[in-house]
Amino acid sequence: MDQAQAHQWLAIAVEEARAGLAEGGIPIGAALYGADGTLLGRGHNRRVQDDDPSMHAETAAFRAAGRQRSYRGTTMVTTLSPCWYCSGLVRQFGIGRVVVGEATTFHGGHDWLAEHGVDIVLVDDPACVRLMRDFIENNPALWNEDIGD
Ligand SMILES: [Zn+2]
Repeated sequence: MDQAQAHQWLAIAVEEARAGLAEGGIPIGAALYGADGTLLGRGHNRRVQDDDPSMHAETAAFRAAGRQRSYRGTTMVTTLSPCWYCSGLVRQFGIGRVVVGEATTFHGGHDWLAEHGVDIVLVDDPACVRLMRDFIENNPALWNEDIGD
């Protein structure tokens, strides 16, 4: 996929991350796109808001998309490298591509996904890095809870 498309889709995930931050949550956002480029679902991490540690950004976007006949050709866009749980979701449902905003503040399962044939587009977006750096600096305990440290 071209970089302009990746940035355009990532912008939606960043909007979600900022919405989560404004709610007092962890600023990670995601969006699921169909093979034809249709936005199927979007969401953000709601660990704090819902008191639910399983409501990750990718999970929220996936659930918002509802049932899909097939996930072939779909793209999961996320502001941060996906954790093992969300990487598992990508493989479980056969999502073909993952656009990763950044993998500097957290290195999740995207290498493993690539090894298993998932197309990984690492944008390395400075705005995504800044968002997470600021959050981690201001909320170290909450961040450590989220990543299970
Ligand atoms: Zn996750």
